[in-house]
Amino acid sequence: MGLSIDLENKRAFVAGVGDDGGFGFAIAKALVEAGATVCVGTWPPTMNIFQTLLRRKMDKSLTLSDGSKMAFEKIVPFDAMYDTLDQVPEDVRTSKRYRDRGDFTIAGAAQLFKEEFGEPCFDVVVHSLANGPEVKNPLLETSRAGYLSAVSASAYSFVSLVSHFGPLVREGGSFLCLSYLAAQGAVPGYGGGMSSAKAALESDTRLLAYEAGRKWGHRVNAISAGPYASRAASAIGVIRRMIDYYEETSPLTSPLTAEEVGQGAAFLSSPLASGITGTTLHIDHGYHAMAVPALSEPAEG
Ligand code: NAD
Repeated sequence: MGLSIDLENKRAFVAGVGDDGGFGFAIAKALVEAGATVCVGTWPPTMNIFQTLLRRKMDKSLTLSDGSKMAFEKIVPFDAMYDTLDQVPEDVRTSKRYRDRGDFTIAGAAQLFKEEFGEPCFDVVVHSLANGPEVKNPLLETSRAGYLSAVSASAYSFVSLVSHFGPLVREGGSFLCLSYLAAQGAVPGYGGGMSSAKAALESDTRLLAYEAGRKWGHRVNAISAGPYASRAASAIGVIRRMIDYYEETSPLTSPLTAEEVGQGAAFLSSPLASGITGTTLHIDHGYHAMAVPALSEPAEG
């Protein structure tokens, strides 16, 4: 009663959903639980497998708290590396995973939604994606191309998303991206320019909040999430050790769940957060607040 997250009659676009094991899926589900209709953007190379998973293997994760089954209003192919089709290299455009996908760029997705639903048609846009081809390389061994690719896919993509989707979002709408503490402090093993991309993402969140606020009345925020063994994070390699370390060190010692990030995202996307923009909200069981690991607490006596 009273205060509840109410996203009835709101439509959301969640970019970066390719399975049910990451934050994007959990955020989409939380938005649906709050009453929103959700469209998702899926990286073309994972489109077929995602559609197969949806048909065959996701009954449990698609089940909502009232027992009904979640359905996405639309699943669009979406590659955040490209703003317009003319930027896509020929070999990518003609490759098996891309050639029959239509316009999978950021502008292409915006155009597709505009034609389908009219303008404006969204209230919430979520950027839950990242890609750093050299993430396993120490920064000292990262190539210029790898670094720029990480920043392009993981940070500029958010600037482009806000820019292209701003006009599609109804006044007072919400944009959200997902960051990580490596933006603010050194995290050994999070290389390849990914920490630089997250630092850019958090900085851009602040300036985009100003510009999108003044231009359209939209809000722009980031969630800095604790480590979670999604498909993307598992590819980094050190994720299990990171999760254990966070659990030993954080104020709250239970494992961080994707649902907790989903709920935070639903709150930030809702009218309850109408006063919040330009912020990075840590959803990490308080790890970010610790300067010294709990393990070093002096022994009693
Ligand atoms: P995930 O695998 O669920 O999500 C990443 C998605 O990005 C995948 O669906 C992938 O296909 C997609 N993707 C990759 N390149 C793309 C491109 N060029 N265009 C469009 N989509 C592309 O993993 P996740 O860990 O939930 O990641 C979601 C977000 O959360 C990312 O921004 C990630 O950096 C952030 N994050 C993750 C953790 C963690 O430990 N898992 C912690 C903090 C922040």
